[in-house]
Amino acid sequence: MSTETETNTVEQYDVVVVGGGAAGLSAAVTLGRALRSVLVIDSGEPRNAPAAGVHGFLSRDGISPKELLHLGRAEALQYGADITSGIAVAARSTADPANASGLGFEVDLADGQTVKARRLLVTTGLTDILPDIDGIRERWGRDVLHCPYCHGWEVRNKAIGILGSIPMALHQALLFRQWSPNITLFLNDVVEPTEEQWEELAARSIKVVDGRVRALQVTDDALTGVVLASGTTVPVDAVVVGPRLEARSGVLESLGATTVEHPMGVGTHIEVTPPGGATSVPGVWAAGNVTDLTGQVMASAAAGVMAGAAINADLMMEETRAAVEEARQAALAR
Ligand SMILES: Cc1cc2nc3c(=O)[nH]c(=O)nc-3n(C[C@H](O)[C@H](O)[C@H](O)COP(=O)(O)OP(=O)(O)OC[C@H]3O[C@@H](n4cnc5c(N)ncnc54)[C@H](O)[C@@H]3O)c2cc1C
Repeated sequence: MSTETETNTVEQYDVVVVGGGAAGLSAAVTLGRALRSVLVIDSGEPRNAPAAGVHGFLSRDGISPKELLHLGRAEALQYGADITSGIAVAARSTADPANASGLGFEVDLADGQTVKARRLLVTTGLTDILPDIDGIRERWGRDVLHCPYCHGWEVRNKAIGILGSIPMALHQALLFRQWSPNITLFLNDVVEPTEEQWEELAARSIKVVDGRVRALQVTDDALTGVVLASGTTVPVDAVVVGPRLEARSGVLESLGATTVEHPMGVGTHIEVTPPGGATSVPGVWAAGNVTDLTGQVMASAAAGVMAGAAINADLMMEETRAAVEEARQAALAR
């Protein structure tokens, strides 16, 4: 029976999916449709929760993040998946003699439960580490933004400030120029353009403001300005930041996987082997933002589908090996 509240309906699942965002639920649908028993453990904090709508997801443009996951859960349940609210705190590999390949796992939940699986998929996403400036956390996902493809249209032609919290702010300034002629780059004592970059900024009519940023100005529940340490306030309608992106990798690390710095220098991630997303730990896959820091919702959902298919293929091979062994033993016994 499919349920959203209990975990112990199956003694051992074919697959436990840790993380029920776009990646995890897409994998659960794929695995459910492949007639696999699957449990999704989800702590209910998708990365885009602060945003009003999901953009760039074909046929679902503007849907609230909560509603998208509600629909995704319903689809996964329809195909027999179990979904439980909870936090997976650790997992370990167990040598299971009933399993031809010897692979098996136990996952511990924060409430003390332990669930068993033949394979694990981790889709726990990432944490955005925001610059420590007054007002940024409160406005995050509303008028403090990071991704032009998620929010650029909504702030087109508005006054957009680019906060120089990382060197990539220069790239963000040039990029957001596509959406508005009114771009201001705040150097914030962090960004130091080269001569060539000064030329690019000037050629694109991007204003540059020197000095450290102290806070964001909010008026009537809307961002209205960037306040400098000097006391000057520069009016803006939106601010773009470059958060550090850190994989939520606790469960994977408890299994022996390690995070590495992303080649773009924007944060940490778990390296996997494409196309299915196998990690360095046999029997464990990862998909979505935990491995692909720049993946949007659709890319994360697609990665979940691919991981589900890869895990099903792996189980199929294990079952085929077991069937061959059984057939051989039967032949010997005749
Ligand atoms: C403000 C903002 C706005 C965005 N807007 C858009 C947009 O408009 N369009 C777009 O395509 N993309 C957008 N994105 C990107 C989008 O959020 C990600 O692409 C997407 O969330 C990645 O999906 P995921 O399944 O990998 O991770 P998530 O959606 O973050 O899901 C991970 C899930 O795992 C759970 N979890 C984590 N750790 C555990 C654990 N230990 N045990 C159990 N559960 C756990 C979390 O609670 C969460 O529910 C936006 C991002 C931000 C920050």
